[in-house]
Amino acid sequence: MKQIGSCHCGKVKFEVSNLNLNEAITCNCSICQRKGTMLSFVPAENFKLLTDRSALTDYQFGKKSIHHFFCSTCGVTSFAEGKTPEGIPMIAINVRCVENIELSMVFAKQIDGKSFQ
Ligand SMILES: [Zn+2]
Repeated sequence: MKQIGSCHCGKVKFEVSNLNLNEAITCNCSICQRKGTMLSFVPAENFKLLTDRSALTDYQFGKKSIHHFFCSTCGVTSFAEGKTPEGIPMIAINVRCVENIELSMVFAKQIDGKSFQ
């Protein structure tokens, strides 16, 4: 099953397949806590950016292993890119940006990311 996700202004839009919408991660690490994202992860091949990459600003910090993208126009974070410890490219989808879903039906699983920073 495919879902469409987007930022607020629409300059960032993507298609994602087999996204787990039963459960998403909320995290207390320095960036998740501030942004309030709810993340669900998919392998990179399940993700297709439908808009131009130039609409994104790439923010990195710390070990710089994750690309914390946000829309340069509206500021919304709809996804991030990283790798598993095994080196498999993954996309973290902010399920808050997935269109036409019932957010209250997504279970928010709290992760203690702060302890791993
Ligand atoms: Zn935008």
